[in-house]
Amino acid sequence: MPTRIPLRPSLLKVRRQTVKWIIVHHTAEMYDNPEARIDNPKFQVSALAKGVLEKKQGDINYHYVIDKIQNDYQPIITRPFVYLCEWDDIEANINKRAIHVAILGSYDFKVPESRMYQVLAFRVLNPFMKMFNLSPNRIKLHRDVSSNTELTCPGDFIDRGRIIAQVRRFVVK
Ligand SMILES: [Zn+2]
Repeated sequence: MPTRIPLRPSLLKVRRQTVKWIIVHHTAEMYDNPEARIDNPKFQVSALAKGVLEKKQGDINYHYVIDKIQNDYQPIITRPFVYLCEWDDIEANINKRAIHVAILGSYDFKVPESRMYQVLAFRVLNPFMKMFNLSPNRIKLHRDVSSNTELTCPGDFIDRGRIIAQVRRFVVK
């Protein structure tokens, strides 16, 4: 039996303000589970459930996780965006207006594939930018909005310039 992700919405805070920011992470910073690895072709989001239980969270602490399943990347809804994620290192004024998107695995050791950047832009960032009328400068890496100066999230090899280049390619008109 696969581990099920517990659903405890009573532990979650409801979003009261409109979305102004999208923040990009990798899951290795919080869910350091060996079953959740980049380039594993299986569905891996379920491997994050152990971390949710250990940390007594209401749900996975990202709104979306991008998982590589077989040969392609797929964004999975992991916390409905009507709820907030909990990030003490991010200024509350940003966090309560943020959508958090994580790439599954660790990008401190691996250069991301172009396809991952495309899926991130086409399936997650651009639709939310259209819905909430956001410009590319509203997309941030976790390390750029964190009070923790040693944080590498979403990994040393994630390049914000490459994210923005794909965002400009997939603008929803
Ligand atoms: Zn992060």
